[in-house]
Amino acid sequence: MVTGGAGFLGSHLCEKLLNAGEEVLCVDNYYTGSLRNIEHLLANPSFEVKRHDVCFPLYVEVDRIYNFACPASPVHYQYDPVKTTKTIVQGAINVLGLAKRLHARILQASTSEVYGDPEVHPQHESYWGRVNPIGLRSCYDEGKRCAETLFFDYWRQYSVDIKIIRIFNTYGPRMHLNDGRVVSNFIVQALKNESITLYGDGSQTRSFCYVDDMIDGIISMMDSPVELIGPVNLGNSGEFSMMELAEKVLTLTGSKSRIVFQNLPEDDPKQRKPDLALAERELDWSPKICLEDGLKETISYYRELLQG
Ligand code: NAD
Ligand code: UDP
Repeated sequence: MVTGGAGFLGSHLCEKLLNAGEEVLCVDNYYTGSLRNIEHLLANPSFEVKRHDVCFPLYVEVDRIYNFACPASPVHYQYDPVKTTKTIVQGAINVLGLAKRLHARILQASTSEVYGDPEVHPQHESYWGRVNPIGLRSCYDEGKRCAETLFFDYWRQYSVDIKIIRIFNTYGPRMHLNDGRVVSNFIVQALKNESITLYGDGSQTRSFCYVDDMIDGIISMMDSPVELIGPVNLGNSGEFSMMELAEKVLTLTGSKSRIVFQNLPEDDPKQRKPDLALAERELDWSPKICLEDGLKETISYYRELLQG
């Protein structure tokens, strides 16, 4: 079962699992995802889709659970912050209860946001983070931290077979046109020759992982020995300022867009880069696709989408 299976990462995950011969149940309430992301999978007899909100209990029979249901873009998770916390926390309780009943292995899509605006760079799994508990990002950051707590308590208290990954900024085809995250924003703006909206002075950094690399890492973690519960960072350690990203997108699209500076959102982390040593050692995994190649693929996707 993949919760959030009609979203950006979830749909790629469903596709990869089906290609590997698995049977997949996609559970989604289409809050930010869409049927369009999975319509090419619908004819596959091993694929089943269930419209369901994870805030409510779910009674199905499955042997592995990937818990991805949750809006991931700051614009979308801040639109209804109370719902965001419910989705993450109540959703975690429901899927953990399901995993407990079924003795199923369960993997949580956690996030680099658990490190908040970090004083430690790059971020290692042992770093506890610096998160504002009452800010605009808190519904997501603290929700995801609480979900990690729940996963560990279900493991300690009920021996549920858990896995936690901390996903760093991931991009690629099938991100929503209005997703609001930086890579899709810049590409769509560049392709439409609209202004590139750079928040702050553009010196803040992120490390971007292409979706195919991320999906390989996620499945490696799910298939890893029972002792490896995580959390394990997954991402790409190439670090770029948002100004560098804007310039790269302009060059690769050949756009005439100009950069306009807008206010930096509250609590926007100043720097972010994963320490990937644990994933490299325990999963024998590291990302292969560099930013430029991943951007080219993503630009082609949006070019086609905008033309169609
Ligand atoms: P996305 O918004 O494209 O996908 C989220 C999916 O969850 C959507 O299909 C949405 O409809 C569904 N959903 C939301 N609330 C739901 C609910 N209450 N019940 C059922 N389904 C619900 O985002 P994404 O980038 O694919 O992120 C997927 C997961 O990965 C999220 O849990 C996110 O926190 C995590 N993550 C993503 C990134 C990234 O860079 N993409 C980074 C860190 C963590
Ligand atoms: N950002 C930007 N312009 C945009 C969208 C985002 O400059 O149109 C910046 C944002 O302020 C942040 C970085 O890009 O510093 C990454 O933002 P995103 O929303 O993609 O993810 P985050 O890592 O902040 O959750």
